[in-house]
Amino acid sequence: MQLDAKIPSGPIEQKWDQHRFDLKLINPANKRKYRVLVVGTGLAGGSAAAAMAELGYEVEAFCFQDSARRAHSISAQGGINAAKNYQNDGDSIWRLFYDTVKGGDFRAREANVYRLAQVSNAIIDQCVAQGVPFAREYGGTLANRSFGGAQVSRTFYARGQTGQQLMLGCYQALQRQVSAGRVRVHVRQEMLDVVVADGRAVGLITRDLVSGAVQRWSGDAVVLATGGYSNVFFLSTNAKGCNVTATFRAWKRGAGFANPCFTQIHPTGIPQHGEGQSKLTLMSESLRNDGRVWVPKKAGDPRAAGDIPEAERDYYLERIYPSFGNLAPRDVSSRAAKRMCDDGFGVGPGGRGVYLDFAEAIGRLGEDAVRDRYGNLFQMYEKITGDDPYKVPMRIYPAPHYTMGGLWVDYNLMSTVPGLHVIGEANFSDHGANRLGASALMQGLADGYYVLPYTIGDWLAKAGPAPVDTDHPAFAEAEGEVRARVDKLLGIGGKRSADSFHIELGKVMWNKCGMARTKAGLEEALREIPKIREAFWSDLRVPGSGEQFNQELEKAGRVADFLEFAELMCRDALTREESCGGHFREEHQSDEGEARRDDANFAHGAVWEYTGDGQEPLRHKEELQFENLEPSTRSYK
Ligand SMILES: Cc1cc2nc3c(=O)[nH]c(=O)nc-3n(C[C@H](O)[C@H](O)[C@H](O)COP(=O)(O)OP(=O)(O)OC[C@H]3O[C@@H](n4cnc5c(N)ncnc54)[C@H](O)[C@@H]3O)c2cc1C
Repeated sequence: MQLDAKIPSGPIEQKWDQHRFDLKLINPANKRKYRVLVVGTGLAGGSAAAAMAELGYEVEAFCFQDSARRAHSISAQGGINAAKNYQNDGDSIWRLFYDTVKGGDFRAREANVYRLAQVSNAIIDQCVAQGVPFAREYGGTLANRSFGGAQVSRTFYARGQTGQQLMLGCYQALQRQVSAGRVRVHVRQEMLDVVVADGRAVGLITRDLVSGAVQRWSGDAVVLATGGYSNVFFLSTNAKGCNVTATFRAWKRGAGFANPCFTQIHPTGIPQHGEGQSKLTLMSESLRNDGRVWVPKKAGDPRAAGDIPEAERDYYLERIYPSFGNLAPRDVSSRAAKRMCDDGFGVGPGGRGVYLDFAEAIGRLGEDAVRDRYGNLFQMYEKITGDDPYKVPMRIYPAPHYTMGGLWVDYNLMSTVPGLHVIGEANFSDHGANRLGASALMQGLADGYYVLPYTIGDWLAKAGPAPVDTDHPAFAEAEGEVRARVDKLLGIGGKRSADSFHIELGKVMWNKCGMARTKAGLEEALREIPKIREAFWSDLRVPGSGEQFNQELEKAGRVADFLEFAELMCRDALTREESCGGHFREEHQSDEGEARRDDANFAHGAVWEYTGDGQEPLRHKEELQFENLEPSTRSYK
């Protein structure tokens, strides 16, 4: 597997401009001769489809929901970063670049992150022009708030529903192109394979989730914008439908999978409340702008929060990380919460929770101001827990939330399969080993509106139209494999539901490849996962048929992929003998329990190559060069 990142030469500030100039262009009249297949209509896929169609390409867009607008991006709460420096508090493109590389624990590619910071400002202008109702100051200027890992306020937001509002802007842009006839959106179509012919991605195989029809689609380039895989843990803050199938199938067709073990556990989820629970709910990081995190100073303190006097409370984030306090980055805050609970200071059922308290903010700002900022989040919390956070502190606990790992892409966002591009959360992205809050929306929209539309033109101009159509034997072969797999899932005739296997897998992953990992635990997981997989393929029960709307069948296919992918994650975590960002190997920690990196041996992206079912995948490295920033020990103290 060749890993040529294609990072342009020259000073970092000029790389992207120079690269854009060097990229080949396609004459506007010729663009309509190219068909691009875009899987995913979230903020990454939706913006890419709209922007490419606006340029003149023919676009076929696919999603498994019943509307493009229902992509998981709609759930994003807290905001989107940009280096506008509207607060005049010292922000700059360089600072956003620095914060993001440092936040990711120096495991991201400098050139990509710099470009991300550069285009961040254009995203805000674009979204404002679309009518996205970002919060504003009294005088009408756009407001900002702070997110973790930054000492400036650079997060643009629309209450706690930023993703929804950005999606509305993006969806309008997409629909404009649908009306213009340049985008066709195919809803309820699940991509089950990428077709590769003569070493180039030339199409897709999808299954219509309503009728069960399996279809072939050919195109000159393929884009995957299929989101992240946090649901490998079963319980996560992601929408229930989020899965790894698209990227995992592409992996099996030759796309390198980078850093699968880099997952983010978010510090402010609502704690799990029972065994039968099907998902976790996020309380946005924005709440840490005003909420203060604490636990009782006395382990096992049985008193209600309101009965514990100030002097007997430990505001541990403010104590341990005085510079960043409650806005310490997610990996750091999550681990601190876990340590508190492991040491017996946790609150609520089973002691698996810490308080997020707004009493001080309400006293300082008044209840109305707090309601203005976070009203919908407070309402959501009250609906789920029955507690009123205006009166009692929220209880929170870390929850799987985001995946920094994904398909490896070069600077042009192309995977190791020529023609197969990957954007948004689905690629291994710019966040290294830990994403800072409000940076996923920034990256998804940067990829979709501002990077891919240029770089894909260069690829198409050089590669020319795909020389094959759906009659090519590669389509027949991929379609045959998809049909055989669906039949296999339906034919097992066992007793257990897909969910029951998913829950079992999720527990193994959370306990052994979650917030803390050890060699012994990962080795155990690698022994346990194949057993669950074996049980799955002999005792799964999928009711109904493949010719009807059958959500059990959908789930079964996704769980089957998680059951293989989980092994890749554990293998990746086992080989990375260091701690960095969200990847915390207990063997590699400082005396104070912080992550200890090993730059001499692991300053690289680990890229896995599929070598065949039942075969050990191969591990390749993309060495990371730090020419502008000096990798240092990350400190938020
Ligand atoms: C609760 C929550 C709050 C968040 N808040 C923020 C925030 O405030 N700020 C921030 O920056 N980030 C936030 N994030 C992260 C951010 O929302 C996501 O990383 C981002 O929206 C992902 O966008 P995407 O376009 O890459 O993928 P998604 O929005 O997940 O879209 C994936 C698309 O791919 C399609 N798809 C997937 N697989 C297939 C398949 N096999 N066949 C066909 N279609 C397929 C889906 O139908 C969907 O259209 C939050 C995440 C969560 C869970």
